[in-house]
Amino acid sequence: MARYIFVTGGVVSSLGKGLSSASLAYLLQSRGYRVRIRKLDPYLNVDPGTMSPFQHGEVYVTDDGAETDLDLGHYERFSGISAKKSDNITTGKIYSDVIKRERQGKYLGKTVQVIPHITNRIKEFIKSDITKEDFVICEIGGTVGDIESLPFLEAIRQFSNDIGRKKTLFMHLTLVPYMKASDEIKTKPTQHSVKELRSIGIQPDIIICRSERSIPLDQRKKISLFCNVAIEDVIETVDVKTIYEAPISFNKEKLDERVLKYFNIKSKKKVDLEPWKKITNLVLKTKDKVNIAVIGKYVELKDAYKSLDEALTHGGIANNLKVNLVRLESDYLKPSEINNKLSDVSGILIPGGFGKRGTEGKISAINFARKHKIPFLGICFGMQMAIIEFARNELKIKNATSSEFGSSKASVVGLMNEWLKDGKLVKGTDQNLGGTMRLGSYEARLKKDTKISNIYKSLRIKERHRHRYEVNINFKKDFENKGMIFSGLSPDNRLPETIELKDHPWFIGVQFHPEFKSRPLEPHPLFSSFIKAAKNKSIK
Ligand code: GLN
Repeated sequence: MARYIFVTGGVVSSLGKGLSSASLAYLLQSRGYRVRIRKLDPYLNVDPGTMSPFQHGEVYVTDDGAETDLDLGHYERFSGISAKKSDNITTGKIYSDVIKRERQGKYLGKTVQVIPHITNRIKEFIKSDITKEDFVICEIGGTVGDIESLPFLEAIRQFSNDIGRKKTLFMHLTLVPYMKASDEIKTKPTQHSVKELRSIGIQPDIIICRSERSIPLDQRKKISLFCNVAIEDVIETVDVKTIYEAPISFNKEKLDERVLKYFNIKSKKKVDLEPWKKITNLVLKTKDKVNIAVIGKYVELKDAYKSLDEALTHGGIANNLKVNLVRLESDYLKPSEINNKLSDVSGILIPGGFGKRGTEGKISAINFARKHKIPFLGICFGMQMAIIEFARNELKIKNATSSEFGSSKASVVGLMNEWLKDGKLVKGTDQNLGGTMRLGSYEARLKKDTKISNIYKSLRIKERHRHRYEVNINFKKDFENKGMIFSGLSPDNRLPETIELKDHPWFIGVQFHPEFKSRPLEPHPLFSSFIKAAKNKSIK
């Protein structure tokens, strides 16, 4: 039977619960165990799909088409395990599920309540779809003390009673601040946060203390005493220079050892930290860099393009280069300034996006990349914008646009309501905006002897999608006559999946999101190739 590790956070948010969970997953895996990581989010949205990136950062898409929290991206990148729909649940999902059952009369006349009905449903979700895993790491979003997270905390408390305390471990991540004025490390916030947790019946087994500097023994003892945990289970995590160092640092602090000790089991294998040491070394020591412009609407927010930033870094790792991101807000990118703003970059990337705002800046930048033969990668919306640019300037369709921006006679990108998935027609005609896009992994067939098929070294690929609009296949011939090839199509030949320019060193657009599948230990070929092209450009 699986053992469950519940990860809660205290004092403040953004302490790195996701990264801690992901690192622990790697360490346990490396010791020979099967691990699954899940995230329980206390907000009322059914999923983050309808949230603005300003609210929630990136929406991470899984193979099976779930729109999930960006922490699932961390999990995948560190553990290498593909996340599933069942790995992310929200209060919204739980409540809508319970209310649906109530309407169906499934509660047999009972008054439906938070305890036990909501908590029972949460417990069912925690256990669902678990088969051979040795460990399930469950991260609870938010901070202890939030009203929203109470049902989740109550559910995990009950859960540990149900399956037995020996099969559950509570891990609490807190902040241990350093006060410059008095030159002191303060343990009080941790004490308060643990007190809060204990007041709802949860006694943490391991406390991870996030701190700017190393925590002296005296302070550790204090935390141990006041929070009722063994001194060995007060584990510090001092800020690392790169996130790739996290598994190394947690191992050094014996986190994985303490977890195994708690469950009274032995390591099956010796931990392999070599890949992370190599990457950390590379990332910290590499001096050569390449400037890549990322032009989007949410560039000011660090987390909005999390997987993309990571994938570009991985591309740099593959080429022994530091990738310097030049983030440009598309809304402020005036055509007259393009020359100036892009003169120093060796590659231009337009990521996914929604809505008309900022599109003209993107289109001008694409024109610049095309004309000046600068390596260009257009992802999803970026590919659609590349199509519009080419249609306007090469096919001379003056008003070429996307029907996403309003109805038009010149929609080279339009709404496509049906997609074939595993031989079946998927309809996206729902009026709702949530969960109704073409989501998840779909196959694309690549044309032989094209740049993209050489990069993938394959003619059949599977990548993750998240879009509602499609490039209109009826224009295929017109584009190809002018030198833009539709180098990848859906298996039924109806949906353009990839485009490239014949007469350009590296100009590729993809309707899918390759960034979701790139991993530090396995950089995605498209990003490695893009960065390589940018490197060649910067040398010239
Ligand atoms: N807005 C576009 C669409 O829905 C592109 C989406 C995206 O870039 N993820 O098709």
